[in-house]
Amino acid sequence: MLEGKGIVVDWNMTIGAKPASSKRALAVEDPATGTVVGTVPECDSRHIRDAVASAESALQCWREEGEARRDALVRLRALVYENRDELAEIITHEEGKPLHESRKEVAGACSELEYFSGLVIQDDILTRNDHIEVRVVHRPMGVAVAITPWNFPLGTAVAKIAPALVAGCTVVLKPSPFTPLSCLRLGELSRQVLPPGVLNVISGGDRVGEALARHGVPRMVSFTGSVDSGRRVASVAGRGLKGTVLELGGNDPAILLDDVDVEVIVDELFWNVFANCGQVCVAVKRLYVPDVLYEEVVEALAEKARAVTMGRGDDPSTELGPLCNAVQRERVECLVEDAARHGAKICSGGNRGKSEGYFYEPTIISDVDDGVRVVDEEQFGPVLPIVRYHLVEDAVRRANASHFGLGASVWTGDSERGREVAEKLQAGTVWMNAHKSTVEGQPGTGIKASGLGTEGGRWGALAFTEPRVFYMKMG
Ligand code: NAD
Repeated sequence: MLEGKGIVVDWNMTIGAKPASSKRALAVEDPATGTVVGTVPECDSRHIRDAVASAESALQCWREEGEARRDALVRLRALVYENRDELAEIITHEEGKPLHESRKEVAGACSELEYFSGLVIQDDILTRNDHIEVRVVHRPMGVAVAITPWNFPLGTAVAKIAPALVAGCTVVLKPSPFTPLSCLRLGELSRQVLPPGVLNVISGGDRVGEALARHGVPRMVSFTGSVDSGRRVASVAGRGLKGTVLELGGNDPAILLDDVDVEVIVDELFWNVFANCGQVCVAVKRLYVPDVLYEEVVEALAEKARAVTMGRGDDPSTELGPLCNAVQRERVECLVEDAARHGAKICSGGNRGKSEGYFYEPTIISDVDDGVRVVDEEQFGPVLPIVRYHLVEDAVRRANASHFGLGASVWTGDSERGREVAEKLQAGTVWMNAHKSTVEGQPGTGIKASGLGTEGGRWGALAFTEPRVFYMKMG
């Protein structure tokens, strides 16, 4: 519960629609101040067992009631909407993003709930006549585990819960230990509208996620997080032959073509890098710029970076909040120092900028090339390396020379040229003159090390189902 200015006390998990606590607690820090804003239960093996058992016992009814499931999602959406201001405040105090971005995240969660509440998963009829009918039906997989990261704590959780529930699965959700508060609040709200056990929310560290992925009952694990954790989840879930969807890290390239109007695109490009302090899986994480535009682009982006107002998320003038936690800021600092040691130029930022919290100034790095860590690795922070190129084919080759394959974009005034380049980019989503943008029902998927399977849209709901074939010859 929020009291006064973001002060939070006593959070509970939700197991079987009841509050559940633990003797051990985890503290949640406000990244803008480093102060504790909430203490949450650190669940133990008994909680894991109870949460899974409760999801399992709810499954029998839930899987049979398509219409009731959609109604329940409508009611859950209404509750999230009713509590939107509180949820947005919670997100800002646990994750650090400016309040206007948190509001957008809550609005996005409402849209997801609305979209999935209207989704009917149809059977596929392959053939039907007087003699024969062959039908593929999509049955819920069973109990699903949802494991989520910190950067969009509510948004990512709802992107898993909504399709899982509409598909007929019941869920055990484990949010990031850095940002469990909004999910615990969602669990609490859900007790009013979902049957007991349909959604269980438990809090804890990586160990809890692994125990859930390993547990014998869940048939599906939907995971969003880093590549390393994703590999571990896949290997544990694989042993149990469970379904998995893995939405993992990215190192998205954006390629500017030489006909682009820098003034026109600079603002949009900038926020495709720095929104949520760069902690977005599909942020632009490296920029390829032709010789002729290089100086102009570097200066335009550095100028914007210098002008950004960095501050606490609950200050209405704030454009850029802090990083979510100390570990992430250290990683970002390390990458910038490494780039500087390799001769790169730090054109803006490169400092913490504030004495409290986990702030880091928006940092533009020029004179940097592939082979330097900040270009080759995912920074997941407010840092953009800008790489110079001479031939477009070379930029495409370098953009693709990565084990990541989440998103990529090309920016141009010439749609035909843009399409040609887009076709060659190796990523789950490719944009032209945009990055990160989505429309309703759009799936998200990573190729190469960026993931397995698909989240979002009807593909996202189908991921929580298994096909069964009915081949029926009439007697
Ligand atoms: P993380 O992998 O450290 O943790 C994510 C979640 O997994 C947390 O809840 C954590 O407790 C849990 N976890 C960690 N190890 C586990 C294990 N062995 N078994 C089961 N659960 C485990 O990731 P993070 O640092 O919280 O998030 C940042 C990463 O997430 C970045 O790489 C980012 O690109 C990625 N991400 C990807 C997407 C996408 O859609 N592709 C979206 C958001 C974030």
